[in-house]
Amino acid sequence: KETLDKGLEKTKESFFGKLTRAVAGKSKVDDDVLDRLEEVLVTSDVGVDTTLNIIDRIEKRVARDKYVTVNELNDILRDEIASLLTENNTADTEGFVLPEGKKPYVIMVVGVNGVGKTTTIGKLAYQFKKAGKKVYLGASDTFRAAAVEQLEIWSERVGVPIVKQQMGSDPASVAFDTLSSAMANGADVVLIDTAGRLHNKKGLMDELSKIKRVMQKVVPDAPHDVMLVLDGSTGQNAFEQAKQFTLATEVTSMAITKLDGTAKGGVVIGISDQFKIPVRYIGLGEGVEDLQPFNRKEFVKSLFG
Ligand code: GDP
Repeated sequence: KETLDKGLEKTKESFFGKLTRAVAGKSKVDDDVLDRLEEVLVTSDVGVDTTLNIIDRIEKRVARDKYVTVNELNDILRDEIASLLTENNTADTEGFVLPEGKKPYVIMVVGVNGVGKTTTIGKLAYQFKKAGKKVYLGASDTFRAAAVEQLEIWSERVGVPIVKQQMGSDPASVAFDTLSSAMANGADVVLIDTAGRLHNKKGLMDELSKIKRVMQKVVPDAPHDVMLVLDGSTGQNAFEQAKQFTLATEVTSMAITKLDGTAKGGVVIGISDQFKIPVRYIGLGEGVEDLQPFNRKEFVKSLFG
């Protein structure tokens, strides 16, 4: 909780700074205040569509209640934002709950380079291991030597096995090997790293669907989760990546990283609203403990204080 408050500090400061300036000298919520609020939300990386959605809801409420004070605006805004955030029912504040009867539980992790994909996998491996789970890592990002090396460093640091092949080998083949080893060794959870090259949508789509298809030869209902990692500090770029990846494959969860040290935490609101895919984790720092299950109530509480 403390990390969450601290991690969202910049977003909160920037957002409320703008909001306070926008309503300064105003007592009643009128069209002018709504115009200013719209600008605050857009410049806080909530995204245009979600902003318009929020403004529309508040307008309706103002029309219904006739007189809404700017003091009440905070609470209304908090409620509206809370209702747009996705519920994360597979994780609680204690951590991710692995569904019964799926062993190994296979998480395929997707996202472009640099967003914090490897770090997120490492943090997850650590948390699952700490929870007493047997974890396997699969280095299916065979495109960059550095990706395999980074994942190996995490595998050593956390003390979990990694399955890899040489650079340039078939990512699907690595995934196949990983699941085979995981099965043979009674693993609980498998994390498969993939290459997120966006230069060619068809290429990405084909590569991801091939990995899935080949994994299903070992575990018929794999992957159980396709987790998209997005860098929250990139604001609108994160939206764009979410769009590209959801077109390329069926994304079933998201992790939004680097919310610490950015004022762009509003992306979580817009991305939740636009894609309706559960945000499962948020990254609040570089350490192993700095990946938290996303909880919308806690998030709003930290944002609004
Ligand atoms: P990948 O290329 O997507 O695998 O990205 P990496 O996992 O290598 O991460 C890129 C950089 O971002 C590294 O320096 C990480 O330590 C850093 N990073 C990852 N997640 C977070 C986070 O939640 N907060 C902060 N501050 N840094 C992060």
